[in-house]
Amino acid sequence: MTQTGSIFRLEGVTRRYDDLTALDAIDFEAEQNEYISLLGPSGSGKTSLLRIIAGFEKPDQGRVWFQGQDITDLPAHERGIGFVFQNFALFPHLTVFENVAFGLRNNVDTVPGVEIEKRTRDAIEMVGLAGLEDRVPDQVSGGQKQRVALARTLVMQPKLVLLDEPLGALDANLRDRMQIELRAIRERLDVTFLHVTGSETEALAMGDTVAVLNAGKVIQSGTPDEIYDTPASPDVALFLNRFNIFDGTLKGGHFAGPFGDAPVATARQNAQDRYAIRYDRTQIFDPGAKLPGPALTARFRASEYLGSSIIFLFETEDHKTVEVDHHLSFGDPRDLTVDNEYVLSWDPAKAIVFGKEGSK
Ligand code: ADP
Ligand code: MG
Repeated sequence: MTQTGSIFRLEGVTRRYDDLTALDAIDFEAEQNEYISLLGPSGSGKTSLLRIIAGFEKPDQGRVWFQGQDITDLPAHERGIGFVFQNFALFPHLTVFENVAFGLRNNVDTVPGVEIEKRTRDAIEMVGLAGLEDRVPDQVSGGQKQRVALARTLVMQPKLVLLDEPLGALDANLRDRMQIELRAIRERLDVTFLHVTGSETEALAMGDTVAVLNAGKVIQSGTPDEIYDTPASPDVALFLNRFNIFDGTLKGGHFAGPFGDAPVATARQNAQDRYAIRYDRTQIFDPGAKLPGPALTARFRASEYLGSSIIFLFETEDHKTVEVDHHLSFGDPRDLTVDNEYVLSWDPAKAIVFGKEGSK
């Protein structure tokens, strides 16, 4: 992977719809030739942000830079930025070939016919659709439609490709395969991908960088490992869907929560006192066993196999669901009896603690 500096930069980008601030003074910079995941819940502003980078909408405040140039006032078709829409948006009456060739045939600068042929064939080949050129969109599967949409964007040779929840319409198996292919395609081309998703699994699996968007603000960005190991706020921990998060009181190097009192070495500044422990660092003990730390009494309710691990679901006395993730690489899971009481515990040094007494 070659990195030659920043490809685009957002500077104080704000977008309002009447009273609603969809994007709130966003500062964000992306390196060239990266795969960037933008993770956020529905309504957090993901599509608005992509539309502003693409030039379909203008920010109310702030600037957008692309390849060192301020493009805030540049029309979309002059930006050289590709956009893959969530619903594919293919022309139903045109063949796969003509859907992919469309942008070249209607380019502002005329592209010679032989070049259109070649680039279209190359793009179709690149996404694995060779042989299907003469079909119309109704005659190909959902996954193939997704590839047509991607080829149609790549044929224009953009330096930046924006993908709005590109795998959202695909079933789970296909989604896994397309994740791998999207990364492979990006690596073969000299291009940056900005991939918007509401799925934490997808964001962590695909991104060289993951940016987390909440209520119109980028609340954290970093490598998947950084985000996963050190979420900057309880909101980030919550979106990752891999942490048990408890309310309680942080005071003088201790956190008092539903699990009793736990020592806290470091805490991060936050308006509420919250305690987060990863699902895969939470362990299951029998009542009375020797524990590595806090003791949370909970009833076992159900388990779920997820390929390489098992998730055990527990319910605490105050009816909160707590999850334990057991990786099968650590050996067979223990046998648990549904509705029996167990004690959950963990190494307190592995917890991530937030609170008013935390440091910045
Ligand atoms: P996401 O893609 O993360 O689901 P969006 O960018 O679509 O979020 O929307 C962010 C917020 O802005 C939402 O509250 C949405 O309802 C609002 N919004 C988006 N587009 C418009 C619009 N054209 N008019 C009014 N409100 C809008
Ligand atoms: Mg959206």
